[in-house]
Amino acid sequence: MYWDESVESLSRSELDALQLHRLRHMVERVSNYSFYHKKFADNHISASLINSLKDIRKLPFTTKQDLRDHYPYGFLCVPKEQLVRLHVSSGTSGQATAIFYSRGDVEHWAELMARCIYMTGARAGDTFQNLTGYGLFTGGLGFHYGAERLGLLTIPAGAGNSKRQIQLMKDFGTNVMHIIPSYALRLQDIMKEAGIHPRRDLKLRIAYLGAEPYSQEVRRRIEEFYGVRAYNSYGLSEMNGPGVAFECPHQLGMHIWEDSYFAEIIDPVTLEPVPEGTIGELVLTTLHREAMPLIRYRTKDLTRFMPGDCPCGRAHRRIDRMQGRSDDMFIIKGVNIFPIQVEQVLMNIPEVGNNYVIVLQRENNIDTMIVRVEVNEKIFIEDMRHLQRIQKKITHDLRSELLLTPQVELVEPHSLPKSEGKAVRLVDQRSL
Ligand code: AMP
Ligand code: ZN
Repeated sequence: MYWDESVESLSRSELDALQLHRLRHMVERVSNYSFYHKKFADNHISASLINSLKDIRKLPFTTKQDLRDHYPYGFLCVPKEQLVRLHVSSGTSGQATAIFYSRGDVEHWAELMARCIYMTGARAGDTFQNLTGYGLFTGGLGFHYGAERLGLLTIPAGAGNSKRQIQLMKDFGTNVMHIIPSYALRLQDIMKEAGIHPRRDLKLRIAYLGAEPYSQEVRRRIEEFYGVRAYNSYGLSEMNGPGVAFECPHQLGMHIWEDSYFAEIIDPVTLEPVPEGTIGELVLTTLHREAMPLIRYRTKDLTRFMPGDCPCGRAHRRIDRMQGRSDDMFIIKGVNIFPIQVEQVLMNIPEVGNNYVIVLQRENNIDTMIVRVEVNEKIFIEDMRHLQRIQKKITHDLRSELLLTPQVELVEPHSLPKSEGKAVRLVDQRSL
């Protein structure tokens, strides 16, 4: 039932004790090196302050800006000769940052990933197709090493080249896949056009979806079309990459591997912990990192702890589907909106296709929000009146959710821009 029984079956109190032990050790170690050496000395911080897990609040936060300011080596806690890998974060919102791994870090990361994959029921004998980018992006190699560690027949397909992806799936009976949700939606359209029905023609059983925010509605569409159980996978380069939090078969939020990460959820304004169950910014501390430990790293990702215990029996706490990043939020006409709110509405409407984009414009000091929506194949060829009805329905549903009226434009299937990696859902042209 467990890949690593020694940590997956720990009780809450055992996990707490392990975390406290590792946290103290980590604080002790980083005090001697790098960024933290000076930071801790300036603020009179030492491991002796950490007597309970709550004492983590005595430690300073680490931000992306800190990583940038000390780029590239400022956070290293081992000599350079001990490094075996580096990844660079995608830098969708600013200058990139470099993350370093020791041999032990790469090993442990593979273990964490094997744990995630095993938890969902994949086993040796299964064929795993990895449809995400290999290279500086951590998603590809992270899953690759985990799947091999577990003993899956691993196909390093990489991103894109959809025809070949489909061929590989057919030829080798792929039953487990890792795919970015926006690409899964695109591949769905391509399969439909090619007359491929995954439930009939392929053997897919499990999909891992992550790397970008996506709604429950998108998950449902993917599960429905491919005939898979789709599991949410969360991670970020600063914490290795994928393998930080992952769903178990109950799909009730993602278990954070608390032997390796300490999680807090804070109010991004007051920086205080939010009440249990409230959405806030996820803050993570590595408990098991050699090369580049990070203390109280502000992820900017917004989520909440799920209340109660998971029926699977693992005590590792769960976080909810990400609502987005705090820097994804946009304000228009005084209303705060996350792109995911728009997606939830759109993907609940059957006539809506698999791609959309939100465009913000400003003219004569008046902001407008345009939602461009691909309609699905069948609809587009039908009559104008029908299209108008759909447009009205989308506008109405968006207004109820957002409390403002966006301009809805229906466009042909496959006409919106596509990206190789993470989808770009928001184009803000207001400062142009
Ligand atoms: P990077 O390290 O540059 O590949 O990006 C990591 C970021 O991707 C995270 O901080 C999240 O904002 C986003 N991300 C990763 N996995 C998920 C997920 N399952 N759901 C929502 N956002 C995710
Ligand atoms: Zn569970």
